[in-house]
Amino acid sequence: MPSRPDEPTADDTSNVWAVVVAAGSGARYGSPKQFELLGGTPVVDRSVSACRAVAAGVVLVLPADRLAERHGADVVVAGGPTRSASVRAGLAAVPEVAEIVVVHDAARPLAGPELFRAVVDAVAGDGADAAVCALTVSDTLKRVDGDERVVETVDRHGLVAVQTPQGFRASVLRQAHLNGDEATDDAGLVEALGATVVVVPGDPRNVKLTTPADLGYAEHLLGG
Ligand code: C5P
Repeated sequence: MPSRPDEPTADDTSNVWAVVVAAGSGARYGSPKQFELLGGTPVVDRSVSACRAVAAGVVLVLPADRLAERHGADVVVAGGPTRSASVRAGLAAVPEVAEIVVVHDAARPLAGPELFRAVVDAVAGDGADAAVCALTVSDTLKRVDGDERVVETVDRHGLVAVQTPQGFRASVLRQAHLNGDEATDDAGLVEALGATVVVVPGDPRNVKLTTPADLGYAEHLLGG
């Protein structure tokens, strides 16, 4: 679908803002992983910097006790008790003029500029309400019960593993967050509205730091 004359493209970033969520406690990691050094640079700084490929401004959502820090962002706000609450806090600080909002997890410091451009282009140029980057699933998937006994093997046909960045028409993202609902990603809330969410190719290098081993792997990817 051709873009409307008043819609921004990835080449025109003046109406694109980004929200980087970095207010997690890193419970599975053992400490707030977003402040670890990766290649000598804090993880969160890398994630903020990556957004500059498409965004005129970046809102960084931080733990309430770290609001004196900036990490290269334009605006800093305190996060909430859940990821969705933190996104809402960031979104509230995005200027109303923004027409497209990109949401990115600070915990994905290796997201490249092409991912940001792809999700913005899918919204700005192709008219989707939202775009997520995702990888096809190559592992066999099984559902397990509480005792880790296998209940079933899940058909992986049509399944993808979703990453951030995720791009949104700003009005749709604001509407999706109006009720204070929870989801593991923002596209999930947009889907619940019945809006159009499309998938663009993700990047296997765009790892999410979850355990300390992931940081070592990210260092390896950075050096390779
Ligand atoms: O916990 P998880 O790794 O899924 O968090 C994804 C991202 O959301 C991380 O960058 C984390 O800092 C952020 N987050 C947040 N506020 C929370 C929980 C997570 O900003 N309350």
